[in-house]
Order: sequence, then C-alpha cells, then structure tokens
Amino acid sequence: MTLASKELMKKPLLEALKERPLLGDGAMGTQLMLAGLVQGNCGEEWNIHHPERVLGIQKRYAEAGSDCILTNTFGGSRIMLNRHGNADNVAAINKAGVAIVREAFKSVGREGYVIGDIGPFGGLMEPYGEFTEDQVREAFTEQAKALMDGGADAIIIETQTGLEELGIGIDAAKEAGCPCIIGSMAYDVTLDGSTFRTMMGIDPERAAEFMEERGAHIVALNCGTGMDMPHAKEAIERYKQTTSLNVMAQPNAGLPKLVNMQVIYDETPEEMVKGVVPLMGAGTNIMGACCGSTPDHIRAFRKAIDEKLAGGV
Ligand SMILES: [Zn+2]
Repeated sequence: MTLASKELMKKPLLEALKERPLLGDGAMGTQLMLAGLVQGNCGEEWNIHHPERVLGIQKRYAEAGSDCILTNTFGGSRIMLNRHGNADNVAAINKAGVAIVREAFKSVGREGYVIGDIGPFGGLMEPYGEFTEDQVREAFTEQAKALMDGGADAIIIETQTGLEELGIGIDAAKEAGCPCIIGSMAYDVTLDGSTFRTMMGIDPERAAEFMEERGAHIVALNCGTGMDMPHAKEAIERYKQTTSLNVMAQPNAGLPKLVNMQVIYDETPEEMVKGVVPLMGAGTNIMGACCGSTPDHIRAFRKAIDEKLAGGV
C-alpha cells in the first residue's frame, strides 16, 4: 500500500474517538529550551529555521506512542509573531508546523493526527487593552487558515481563560473549514483548594456550555495552576455532566514548585501515570500532558492505556 492511499484511509479524528481513547503529546516549550531555545525567543520560528530540532522533539513523542501531536505554533498568530519581527512569516511558520508533525509520524511508520495549535494572542482586547476584536479575529483566522492549508486534522484553541477570545478562536477555525475544533481552558485551583476556575472566573460548566453553543467539537483543559491528574479528572467529570461533546485533558506533571524563583513541575512518569486509568474511567477521549511532561511520561501513558484497553488492570 502506498503512503498516499494509507493517508486516504485514515479515519477523521472524531470518528476515531468513537472507537477508542487517543493519546496526545507532552510539553513542547521545555523541550525546545532543552534543544537550545533561549527563554523569550521565538520557538515557532524554528519551524522554518531549525525544523530538524522541532522534528527531533516531535519524533520522540511519536516514538513514545502519541496518536495526536500538537503543532509547534502556540505563538503562531500574527500578533504573537509580530513581537519577534516574524509577522511576515505567519503562513510559512504554521504550514511548516503541520508538515513537521506529519514527518514525525511518518518517521515511525504510523498514522497520527496533527492538531494545529493556536495559543492566546497574548494581550487584552479593548476596552482593557490595546487590541481590537477585529485584530484578534483577523490574526486567529489567518493562523487557522494556514494550519488548515497545511493539512491539519484538527485545531486546538488552548490555554484560554476568557470566553471572548475562545469564541473568536472557535469562529476562526470554523471559517477555515476545520472539521474538528477543540477549545481548551487553563484553570487555576482556588486558594482554599476547593475548586478551580480560569483567571477570568470561568468554571468548567460555563466553558462546556459555551463551547457547545459556539460549535466546538471537543471540550478540553490544559495547563493552569495546580491542575494535576486528579484535578483534571474532576474537570472532565464536570464537563461530562454538562455536555455530550468529546473531552480532552492535558494536565501538568504534578503541582507547581518554586525552585530558584522559577515555577517547575517535576512529577515523575511513574507518579503521573497513576492518574491515567482514572482519567479514562471518567470518559476522557484524548489524554495528553502539559508543563513538566516529557516523552517518558507519554510512553508510560501509552503502556497504561494499552493495558487498560486490552482488559488488564
Ligand atoms: Zn502547561
């Protein structure tokens, strides 16, 4: 069978989710820094200037067993890229981001799903900030189109804290013709530890309701503060009580620790993987991980998921 016909046979992501839960990937930012990216520099630019470094990281996730890998385009909107003098490279950076993930899957001889990543535009909209809604809409629409032109299977609008920006992102993905739109919120556990909500005060029920109304296909959570595996499970349960859409979780590797004035996440794969079967039990359709996670975490997740699907404990 040729590669092209294999590609044609691949089920759409939403169809595949009807059959089994899928495994996502782990952190990208920390891996880019391990590969030499200086904090504050433009990691997305590497898609066109150092594609082999990005590929090296994403190959390790593919080898570890990821079914879905996010493109290295978190800051790939015009507004974000403009801060690094890369506003002219929006299309090239996003298309290359998709091509690199495809290459990563190809290198391990497996089909996988490329999830085009759209992160926050990194500012505030009027009247609180300097950006107009139209500017944000244009930036997200341009990025979503580039990701779809590149051939992404899905788009995730991630690390979102407010519904306005999330809604603009969902609209942009829709306009680009995206068949699978994921909205992902970053929650913070409250000081008393009793619940969690986003910085803008959005709770999981409100987020799920909003995403369903707005036309997203998968309701997700990622990153945040204090959002470890048990908290992610709770968020998934609250999503499932609110919506019948598919759900996705990318928790951090444990709870944040302050080391040398920097927040780090250092839960080991062995510790973190204990949360995988409970997450599956809660009905999670796509499981990945955020800050502090590595290909080793994803490999442990793969083993736990496969054992569970095979009927093991
Ligand atoms: Zn994170």
